[in-house]
Amino acid sequence: MSNPSILILPGDGIGPEVMAEVRKVIDWYGAKRDLAFDVSEDLVGGAAYDKHGVPLADETMAKAQEVDAVLLGAVGGPKYDVLDFSVKPERGLLRLRKEMDLFANLRPAQCFDALADFSSLKKEVVAGLDIMIVRELTSGVYFGEPRGIFEEGNERVGINTQRYTESEIERAARAAFELAMKRNKKLCSMEKANVMESGILWREVVTRVGEEYPEVELSHMYADNGAMQLVRAPKQFDVIVTDNLFGDILSDCAAMLTGSLGMLPSASLGAPMANGRPKAMYEPVHGSAPDIAGQGKANPIACILSFAMALRYSFDQGDEATRLETAIEKVLADGVRTADLMGPEGGTPVSTSEMGDKIIEALDASL
Ligand code: NAD
Repeated sequence: MSNPSILILPGDGIGPEVMAEVRKVIDWYGAKRDLAFDVSEDLVGGAAYDKHGVPLADETMAKAQEVDAVLLGAVGGPKYDVLDFSVKPERGLLRLRKEMDLFANLRPAQCFDALADFSSLKKEVVAGLDIMIVRELTSGVYFGEPRGIFEEGNERVGINTQRYTESEIERAARAAFELAMKRNKKLCSMEKANVMESGILWREVVTRVGEEYPEVELSHMYADNGAMQLVRAPKQFDVIVTDNLFGDILSDCAAMLTGSLGMLPSASLGAPMANGRPKAMYEPVHGSAPDIAGQGKANPIACILSFAMALRYSFDQGDEATRLETAIEKVLADGVRTADLMGPEGGTPVSTSEMGDKIIEALDASL
């Protein structure tokens, strides 16, 4: 059987720097765990624009459709701010999400003990936090029609439409229940069924899908209360499922409970392919960080944790994903820090590649 395939799209700014550290980890799995991947690499974002005049070439899109998983670094940078909207680096990312139909966005918010002091909340509220937000990614108010700015009488009106079909809700809910089954069998669905018809339908469909998962304890919460509860007592949650708009806001809120942007991974999953694996793209939450690009200061952990998610959700290697997460936890517990993780007590930060090397050392020690 051939090896599972990965397409790496490093992108712009710190993207290539953090991705170089992921390459070390991928190579380690091939050499030390007999888990080899067929890795290819291509351009996205500004880098693709510079070469092809578009932020994602058709051939790259075709490759992304064929591989078992796409790993993306980050796109964008001040150099490209002047470009027309249609060829901005971010359009490359949106094209990937849209054409791969990646409808479930998984955003973990996990607080490593060694970094609990970085949260804006009290240490005891966040220490040990481990929640997963599943955000519906391809429908809802960001896509619904009609949309636009229209003339109405003697003034203008801005319109966006929240629209969800039952099947769109159902597939997002199913992704969340499947995740809950692999975690602590607890799922909270968030909407505003008190004021929105789409919320009423959302609640109905999630409840119906839940009948297929009797082991999962399902609860419902209004999204505004959900925001309060995430800040008040986030550890009450395990998996949260919500729509595109609320998910956008709630996942950013939950993520920041854990401290640095340099630590946050994400996965976007679509329907299963012929080999049973979901269409999938994994990427750090952060952007291309032009302010520190090219200086060896970027924290590669978000990107490496995104690869850990690929191990778990695309390659069915949950134990190896845990090995990698534990290695990262150990490196942090040993006090190894990139510049973004330096506390007020100071110290000497390690570079991007030194952080990658420390993680490889911890992986070696795990054998
Ligand atoms: P950003 O995430 O790039 O940076 C925000 C701040 O966090 C910066 O100070 C940066 O130095 C720091 N930071 C981010 N990642 C870090 C890491 N791994 N290690 C250490 N520090 C890190 O967001 P921004 O500055 O708003 O945007 C910069 C560019 O990135 C823009 O062109 C934007 O459009 C693009 N962007 C891309 C994505 C993506 O590719 N998914 C996401 C957000 C922003």
